[in-house]
Amino acid sequence: MIKKPILPKFVASFFAIALFTLASQSASATTIVILNNDQPNVGFNDPTAASPVGNNTGTTLGQQRLNAFQFAANIWGATLNSSVTITIRASWSALSCTATTATLGSAGAAGIVRNFPNAPFQDTWYSEALANSLAGSDLNTSSNPEISAQFNVNLGNTGCLDGTHFYLGLDNNHGSDVDLVSVLIHEFAHGLGFQTFTNSSTGAQQSGQSGSFPSIYDRFLTDATSGKTWNSMTDVERQASAINTGNLVWNGNQTDTDLRGVLGTARLRVNAPAAIAGNYTVGTADFGSRVSTGGTTGNVAQSSPVDGCGAFSNGAAISGRVALIDRGNCNFVVKVKNAQSAGAIGAIIVNTTTAGVIQMGGGDATITIPSLMISGTDGTTLKNQLNSGLNATALLDNSVLGGADGQGRALLFAPNPVQSGSSVSHWDTSMFPNQVMEPNISGDLTHSVAIPADLTLSEMRDVGWSGNAIGDVPFFVRQQYLDFLNRQPDSSGFAFWTSDIFNCGIDQGCAEVHRINGSAAFFLSIEFQDTGNLVYKMWKAGFGKVSGTPVAVRRTNFLRDSQTIQNSPNQIIVGQGNWQANLEANKQAFALSFVQRAGFPNQSDGPSFVNNLFANAGVTPTSAEQTAAINAFNGAGGGNAGRAAALRSVCDSPSVSNALRNEAFVLMQYFGYLQRDPDAQTPADYSGFQFWLDKLNSFNGNFIAAEMVKAFLASTEYRARFGNP
Ligand SMILES: [Zn+2]
Repeated sequence: MIKKPILPKFVASFFAIALFTLASQSASATTIVILNNDQPNVGFNDPTAASPVGNNTGTTLGQQRLNAFQFAANIWGATLNSSVTITIRASWSALSCTATTATLGSAGAAGIVRNFPNAPFQDTWYSEALANSLAGSDLNTSSNPEISAQFNVNLGNTGCLDGTHFYLGLDNNHGSDVDLVSVLIHEFAHGLGFQTFTNSSTGAQQSGQSGSFPSIYDRFLTDATSGKTWNSMTDVERQASAINTGNLVWNGNQTDTDLRGVLGTARLRVNAPAAIAGNYTVGTADFGSRVSTGGTTGNVAQSSPVDGCGAFSNGAAISGRVALIDRGNCNFVVKVKNAQSAGAIGAIIVNTTTAGVIQMGGGDATITIPSLMISGTDGTTLKNQLNSGLNATALLDNSVLGGADGQGRALLFAPNPVQSGSSVSHWDTSMFPNQVMEPNISGDLTHSVAIPADLTLSEMRDVGWSGNAIGDVPFFVRQQYLDFLNRQPDSSGFAFWTSDIFNCGIDQGCAEVHRINGSAAFFLSIEFQDTGNLVYKMWKAGFGKVSGTPVAVRRTNFLRDSQTIQNSPNQIIVGQGNWQANLEANKQAFALSFVQRAGFPNQSDGPSFVNNLFANAGVTPTSAEQTAAINAFNGAGGGNAGRAAALRSVCDSPSVSNALRNEAFVLMQYFGYLQRDPDAQTPADYSGFQFWLDKLNSFNGNFIAAEMVKAFLASTEYRARFGNP
């Protein structure tokens, strides 16, 4: 494996920033450049004027194509680690086409290498890009490209998928066109390592000077019938294995582990009433958010109009619920958009035919809610229970893996007869949710190459790439929710924050700034201020500093209390139902219980109690703040209720919020990014914490100027949570 300067945990104070800086420069990401190999006026050099579209600011057709290539290259560059620049030689030409089918593009390694320095396996072919990464140097001289790619210049013209063009925007808002960025992510993956160099028709391995040798890919190709891997088969056995449909599987540790969180089966699960509870067969949609393992749960309400083709007249009944809508009279995207506009959290489309469901086509990037189709028969079953507390969940059921064999291994595409160029070097078409590396483009791909959306990065790591999912924008955004809000993202928030980064287009400096500010926004969010930050302030006001530390709470206690505020007595699902009022009820319940903990101040007169809290917080309040807290105490009738009300008042006071902001911010960097207490390291002290607190204070709380979030995001310790640092 490639040796990289793995840095020790940042130990303390001054060294912290030096280590962070080194880590960010040496360990992560890869530069991928596009080499324009087109003739004048063709492909990338096509001078036809073009209007900017979907964050693609190019003003000619050629420029827009090049921008889309660079955007897709940057997605891979952010997730793979290599010190060697990857060059993709690309051009546009006439590829095979009919009016109804087309080869969109093709790509592969420009060359293959074996027995190079640091090669994990001897006598095994590697793509040049991967070999360079493993060797840590450019093995084929720096001017030669590592990947070669051709794309179909005729797409959309008469005789070539008539009228269906490449969508050149970078925002995935492709509608009924083919999303070029998704196609590019797929094709580049072939060139990076999702490819066998063995002939799938004959089973013959690629030959070199002293014989023929397996591809690194072949070491993971396993025939479930014989149990053999491709590198230990004869040509005849490989030939048979390539068409052993449903039995050619990928046997790699990373993919095997990751696919349990990626693959599944879409379900509509009716929770109530009991008479019709259970799973229903569904079709999924090419638009909106995909169903998730956490699922989207709500009461079900019939749309009005029932076909959902116009603005809903019963918004109050739909808001916060799952809309039930009949198929027909208008496109699926129209129905679901109308449901979303009326406040629905999901949509169920009832098929017009009694049996069966279909995949719902269409595209509208402004739709963020999930939608599913059920059969006409099932629709009738649901409609009969609309007045009986009908409640359902749209979810991805990971207990039934879509596209895996009985042993839970990823299925590869192995049709009989062989499909040259498609067989073996793709996942099977049965994978669900749709995957980037299936042989056919799917309309619902997400510009993600990492879990929980996609397995391509997992495969890359199996074949030897150093890679990290945190470079993947959707993965990154989801992780902020998990680390700071303790929950899965809601669909609209997730769409907002991923777009916020993706909207930078090919400007990588912009993308980095938006990652940093987006991450910091989770600390600053009302939701976090109402949960995690409130917990911190309560601990400080109630108990002061934890003995021997400069902070008020240990992470174990913090997590427990934050989760209590989020789920007791109400389970808070942001954006769903009356969540703000529910959260307020949770905060009140938590405060009432918190003031009854052992050791909490228990003065029975308001002024003494309030002064004690402010003193614990290390804050001199204004007289108005002091009066407000005392009034809260008295207004609630004193006792525990009074103490709880006064505690809330003290914690909400500007003096306390301002005084504790920086220490809470720095502490949350440790809790959230590094998932530990500041002193859970060697040396076991708070010197690292103090370094960052002093720095943040010296910048008056300006975390951008202090480069604090940036340093944590770039740190080896943070990145190691998600892959190779
Ligand atoms: Zn392909």
